[in-house]
Amino acid sequence: MKGEMKTAFITGITGQDGHHLTKLLLNNGYRVVGMVNGQRNVAESSFRKLFPNVELVNGDLADFSSLLSILAKVKPDEIYNLGAISFVTMSFSQPEITANITGLGALRLFEAVRSLGLFQTKIYQASSSEMFGKVNEVPQTETTAFYPRSPYGVAKVFAHNMSVNYREAYNIHISCGILFNHEGEYRGHEFVTRKITSNIARIKLGKQERFQLGALHPMRDWGYAGDYVEAMWLMLQQEIPSDYVIATGEMHSVKEFVEKAIEAAGLTGGIEDYVDLDKSLLRPSEVEILCGDASKAKQELGWAPSTSFDQLVELMIENDLKLNSK
Ligand code: GDP
Repeated sequence: MKGEMKTAFITGITGQDGHHLTKLLLNNGYRVVGMVNGQRNVAESSFRKLFPNVELVNGDLADFSSLLSILAKVKPDEIYNLGAISFVTMSFSQPEITANITGLGALRLFEAVRSLGLFQTKIYQASSSEMFGKVNEVPQTETTAFYPRSPYGVAKVFAHNMSVNYREAYNIHISCGILFNHEGEYRGHEFVTRKITSNIARIKLGKQERFQLGALHPMRDWGYAGDYVEAMWLMLQQEIPSDYVIATGEMHSVKEFVEKAIEAAGLTGGIEDYVDLDKSLLRPSEVEILCGDASKAKQELGWAPSTSFDQLVELMIENDLKLNSK
C-alpha cells in the first residue's frame, strides 16, 4: 500500500463480518478501530484474544454523542457500518430497537461524519437482500424495487435510502453493499445455516439425535462471508461511490442445505431422520426466495465469489465437527 497507514473504523466489529473484515484489513496493513458496547457484548473477550492489535472503543449506534467523540478522535479513512440488530426473528419481537439501531444508527453515523466535516472519509453501509423481501423480480439487481417483509428489512431500507441521500446531498463517499445471505465459521447460531451445521455435527458425533426447524421451502442465495468482505473493501477503493449487489446468483432451499449438510458430515438417511418441524419457528411474514445478480460488482469492482455452495456447507460442517469434538 502507498503512503501512510490507513485507519478503518468498524461498527459491529465482533459480529461475523467484523471478524472476516478485520482479518482482511490487518493483512492490508490498516490500523483497525472497532466499536463495542462494553457492558453487553458477550463476543468482546474472544474477539480481543483473536485480534489483540485491534483497538476497541466503547460506544453505541444508539448514542450520537459517543459516535461524535469517537470519530473526532479516530478520524478514520474508512468506516464500515456493520452494526445492526440483524436477526429477522428478533426484529419482529423488538421492532423499535431494530429501527433504532439498524435504521437510525446509520443516520447518526452519517450525521456525525457530516457535522465533523470528515468529507474525506469513505463509508461502507451494510445494506441487505432482505430489502427485496417479497421479490419484484428474479434475480434481484441494484434497480429492483424494495419490498421488505420484516422490521429488519424495513430498517435496512431506511438506512439504504439515507445513504443515497447523504451521498447526493452532501457529496459524502457512501457505498452500499446489498449483500445476500453470507455464512461461514463465524456465523451466529441463530441463523439457519449455522443452526443446521452445528446440530448435524453434534448428531454425527453422537451427542444428540434430532433438532427442530421452521420453514424448509424458503430459498436463499448463500455465499461465503470471507468472499463478501472483499467486496466491501473494494467498494471503498473506488473513486466514485455506488451501490452493489453481492451474491452468488445461485439459490438453494433450507431443505437442500440440510441434505447437503447430512452428506458432508458423512451421515446417511434423509431430512426426516434428523429434523422435526417446530411451528413456533415460522415467521409472521416470510421471504420466500432471494437470488442476486452481481454483474455490476463483477464489472466495476472485479469481484466474484470464489466459494461454491457445496464448499460452503463443507467448510461449515468441518468447522462445527472440530468445535464439537473438543
Ligand atoms: P434470513 O434470510 O436473514 O432470515 O436468514 P436466516 O438464516 O435467519 O433464515 C433463512 C431462512 O431459513 C428463512 O426463510 C427462515 O424462515 C428459514 N428457517 C427455517 N427454520 C429456521 C430456524 O430454525 N432458524 C432460522 N433462523 N431460520 C429458519
